[in-house]
Amino acid sequence: MGATPLVDTFGRVHDNLRVSVTDRCNIRCFYCMPGEEVRYAPHGEILSFEEMAQFVRIATGLGVTKVRITGGEPLVRKDLEVFVRLVAAIPGIRDLALTTNGVLLAEQAGALYEAGLRRVNIHLDTLSRERFLRITRRDNFHRVMKGIETVQRLGFGPIKINTVAVKNLVEPDIVPLARFGREQGIEIRYIEFMPLDAQGLWDRSKVLLADDILTMLESEIGPLDPVDNADPRASATEYRFRDGKGGVGFIAPVSRPFCLNCNRIRLTADGKLRYCLFALEETDVKGLLRSGAPEEEIAAVVREVVRQKWLGHEINSTQFVAPPRPMHSIGG
Ligand code: SAM
Ligand code: SF4
Repeated sequence: MGATPLVDTFGRVHDNLRVSVTDRCNIRCFYCMPGEEVRYAPHGEILSFEEMAQFVRIATGLGVTKVRITGGEPLVRKDLEVFVRLVAAIPGIRDLALTTNGVLLAEQAGALYEAGLRRVNIHLDTLSRERFLRITRRDNFHRVMKGIETVQRLGFGPIKINTVAVKNLVEPDIVPLARFGREQGIEIRYIEFMPLDAQGLWDRSKVLLADDILTMLESEIGPLDPVDNADPRASATEYRFRDGKGGVGFIAPVSRPFCLNCNRIRLTADGKLRYCLFALEETDVKGLLRSGAPEEEIAAVVREVVRQKWLGHEINSTQFVAPPRPMHSIGG
């Protein structure tokens, strides 16, 4: 396989692959899934761990060094540690991370750690059990908190918390979460609500913008200074509290789009390759993996997908069209 990096027509080098291991989830965040009648892909359509690992191997041959496991909820996929072990053993992987809602983390963290996982992002929007129930339609707040405690005890790191910033909802949680992060040595990452929910609820007025969050944090806790990002292609802009105690990050696709620095491709659980979370087109690789196609042929498809990549999403334009699949089905 060629050593030439995966470069798109805008010169962006792609070294970051997000692999969704399932489209299923054990909770029902309203900004991602419908409350009832969720449509999941049939089991036979979902890639096996071996098929996913083969794809990761091909991608590392094209310069991918970072892999994030996501979903749906990755921990509802049986024996996830088997996949972690497979990926961790692939030469060329320098950074392996997991994004989870944390509900099953207390039970599974030990096995994941043993399999080689260290980096974990846990999704938590609130420190209130009542608001957690309202947002996720499930009463699992205490299980997530137990998951956070467990990964801390086991020595995972860095641990980050992902908080979806929805206006007129999570304002009471912004400052308490940042304080919690400061106490626990965990970075809170506020993610602007994106138009990827299954029910079409999104509109711009429902997004709590990064600048508004920054103002709330500075007036309640203290000044924040931007961090010169070690990785200029990271999606989050990071800030440290001036008193030296911790920091926060913002993923702000609505108010601070980061498309110009994008280095990501995504493999969905049903084996489609996407060049963007918001892409309206995707390319099947499951058929190639299952038909035993030569790895060079699959690598050529990956190159072509990257070559087709657009300059960026159009969330802020009237032209914007949301992708036909919601977040849990694409893989966040
Ligand atoms: N189930 C796992 C979780 O919740 O972390 C992994 C998959 S989830 C789709 C990945 C991330 O997407 C979550 O951490 C959540 O913060 C974020 N997310 C989901 N829906 C979103 C939306 N409409 N806008 C912004 N972020 C969203
Ligand atoms: Fe599940 Fe994650 Fe979507 Fe919430 S954001 S419904 S936890 S996949």
